[in-house]
Amino acid sequence: MYRLVCISCGADYAPDAILYRCERCGHLLAVTYDLDSLHIDRAVWNARPLTLWRYRELLPVSGDPVTLQEGGTPLYPLTRLGEELGLPHLYAKHEGMNPSGSFKDRGMTVGVSMALQLGMTSVACASTGNTSASLAAYAAKAGIPAVVLLPAGKVALGKVAQALMHGAKVIAVRDNFDKALEMVQELCKSHGLYLLNSINPFRLEGQKTIGLEVIDQLGDVPDRMVLPVGNAGNISAVHKGLGEFIDLGFIDRLPMMTGIQAEGSRPVVDAIEQGLCELVPTEHPETIATAIRIGAPVNAEKALTAIRATGGTAASVTDEEILAMQRDLARKEGIGVEPASAASVAGVRKLVESGVIDRDETIVCVVTGHLLKDPETVIRQCEPPIEIDADAASLLSVLYS
Ligand SMILES: *Cc1c(COP(=O)(O)O)cnc(C)c1O
Ligand SMILES: [Zn+2]
Repeated sequence: MYRLVCISCGADYAPDAILYRCERCGHLLAVTYDLDSLHIDRAVWNARPLTLWRYRELLPVSGDPVTLQEGGTPLYPLTRLGEELGLPHLYAKHEGMNPSGSFKDRGMTVGVSMALQLGMTSVACASTGNTSASLAAYAAKAGIPAVVLLPAGKVALGKVAQALMHGAKVIAVRDNFDKALEMVQELCKSHGLYLLNSINPFRLEGQKTIGLEVIDQLGDVPDRMVLPVGNAGNISAVHKGLGEFIDLGFIDRLPMMTGIQAEGSRPVVDAIEQGLCELVPTEHPETIATAIRIGAPVNAEKALTAIRATGGTAASVTDEEILAMQRDLARKEGIGVEPASAASVAGVRKLVESGVIDRDETIVCVVTGHLLKDPETVIRQCEPPIEIDADAASLLSVLYS
């Protein structure tokens, strides 16, 4: 059993309240369990397949979930890159291997299941792309309509293609993501759609399982977890999940939570560097990593706590550094990710060079979305295919001359 609890004033709400913020003070809500009453047996968990639903006792869904078999993503050792950076214990958790190609599926399997559990009949979100792709797929699976608002012209091609193909009502707003989020919140309030942006506390419940899987896959607590930060929901979610593992006595320390943003969109980095309690939004966020092109992260309050309480840090990387790491992951490790995902590993490169990261740390980077999400950025970076006449002489001449 769970309650919805305000992270600021502690006000507590019934599990079936349709609420995204505290009615008393306006701050964010978190799903809180009575852990003593849960009776979780680790041996039972370990016998279950490694998917998000291994951890179902720590999730709010009571009936059969709306699932596309998400989670259980690979944790790859980055051997070649690790050697180059002098980091022998460097890993990447490839969230691009989820059903719709990003970690958003973890949030949506729980979020859409909760929509049905709460009796809602339609769902909506604003999105930089992946949230809309994922919501469209899970709404299709659930058999309910979905409305998604995108910043016009600023969403990677693959993501729009998914939202359209899965049958969501796709609306392109002539403004940025932050404005689209404002609009969809209004729409949900006035017309009773269920809001599935990461301000929705149930979505973060699904996403926290990234951290739980890392513990099970590594067999240990990493010293550091590094995530790209857009709305800052994912880093908050992973921190929350691992905190529950501490309370259950499954682990005895937390990794240093480390958030990476793009140079042109770095309100969380500024807040950490300047010691601010509240962040100053970036007016016109700009980066090639469209998934983290967000100027006013809704989960900033949770993320700042996650970073500070674990002795972590935040840093920004340039678009050039992001793209260089996207190529390195692809060419040196065989791991195909979209630009925002490469930001986490690019951040590690920067932090190890500046001496913030210790070389003997065990580091898990979350790489958040698949290479195929953003084919246009890929094609622009690479040489085009070499076209030849269909004869052996032409083939040999381009290969060996
Ligand atoms: C949504 C997303 C992010 C940002 O996650 P937040 O929880 O908003 O901080 C990063 N990378 C990818 C690929 C995403 O889809
Ligand atoms: Zn409150």
